[in-house]
Amino acid sequence: MNQYTLSVIQRVRQKYADEPEFVQTVEEVFSSIDPVIEANPAYEKADILNRMVEPERAFIFRVCWTDDNGKLHTNVGYRYQFNGAIGPYKGGLRFQPNVYPGVMKFLGFEQTFKNALTGLPIGGAKGGSDFDPAGKPDAEVMRFCHSFMNALYRFIGPDVDVPAGDMGVGGREIGYLFGQYRHLKGCWENGVFTGKGLSYGGSLNRPEATGYGAIYYLQEVLKHEGESIEGKTIAVSGFGNVAWGICKKSAQLGAKVVTLSGPDGYIYDPDGVTTREKLHYMLEMRAADPMHVKPYADKFGCKFIPGEKPWGEKVDIVMPAAMQNDVKMDSAKKIADNKIKYYIEVANMPTTNDALQFLMEQDGVIVAPSKAVNAGGVGVSALEMSQNAERLVWTAEEVDERLKRMMVNIHAESAAAAEEYGLGYNLVAGANIAGFKRVATAMLEQGIF
Ligand code: GLU
Repeated sequence: MNQYTLSVIQRVRQKYADEPEFVQTVEEVFSSIDPVIEANPAYEKADILNRMVEPERAFIFRVCWTDDNGKLHTNVGYRYQFNGAIGPYKGGLRFQPNVYPGVMKFLGFEQTFKNALTGLPIGGAKGGSDFDPAGKPDAEVMRFCHSFMNALYRFIGPDVDVPAGDMGVGGREIGYLFGQYRHLKGCWENGVFTGKGLSYGGSLNRPEATGYGAIYYLQEVLKHEGESIEGKTIAVSGFGNVAWGICKKSAQLGAKVVTLSGPDGYIYDPDGVTTREKLHYMLEMRAADPMHVKPYADKFGCKFIPGEKPWGEKVDIVMPAAMQNDVKMDSAKKIADNKIKYYIEVANMPTTNDALQFLMEQDGVIVAPSKAVNAGGVGVSALEMSQNAERLVWTAEEVDERLKRMMVNIHAESAAAAEEYGLGYNLVAGANIAGFKRVATAMLEQGIF
């Protein structure tokens, strides 16, 4: 490995040893762009890698709120504005008890390259809180969101930083956050959030965008291999919004998702999550209780496997869509033993680095990285910003058409970037290289700061 790349990775390992998720993503991205650093001394001269590792700025704030019994609670809020070289900071908010700087920084760092891959002018950011909205009544969530926004509103804006949802932040939370922002600022500025409700400036197809985009990307991979999605079986983890979009689009295209998973285990439905009733129930079940997927098995009479992940099932395609480090070495080995050809990451960093490396080294396994596969979500967020700026609303077909084009381009650009450096059809390296080059070029052109 290039000395400079190595020295930055080592510095990050030492300095951020207490933020393992962040170290993991820096190692993953920087080791795959190493050939680019080696070929272009300008990057080292401008110390691009060390600059990329440090967020441009970050905010950490106290969030106090009272529950329905009048008891006071204190949480921590975060917003890491990682890199604004190519556009206003953009990225979701995650509300989950395990949120801490290491999670925020891994997500903000990843977001920078992912957003660059969309080809749209959006920088990278991430934020959130260790607050857990699961099972909380609306009034408590509203008070929390209002308090969160009281601290954050000064630091965001349509040309500054545009947050959105992530785990634990859906339509309900976005509504309360945007409402308080509008109240505090005394103006509309509706481009300041994406994933908004349709009644106040949201984009058609935004809820579906990440899942649909993942399937459009998958179709490009299959096309590259001379195959089609029709008749394929897919194992998915998670049962949130993203999994729902994957189920819906794959059903439309004649494929079927046969597994979903939750913190309690996974379900195996040999008929696939394909009918309108099943798709609708997924949303209902998730809204009622994000911790259990078992009710699906009870309702539709299929298998539920408690405490396990679905990675031992024999399917054509695997799509981890739940959370980080969902697929570790033991699961990767099962996937390889089952001779599954397509490993398509969807959630942010769903694979540990050793498992990812292992899968990439397997003959006949194609690995697609999440920062490319799930980029359609934030891509459609950028389309929502455009619609808001232009004060108009595109039809679902218009949004879908643009999303499709975006995913085709991301796949083509990633494949071309890997090819350029003699790496073959390496979508992981290609996505990192293409995203890195776009951000690094903008940083070089803007000078040192
Ligand atoms: N949280 C999503 C992501 O990981 C969406 C971000 C956005 O739309 O800004 O990309």
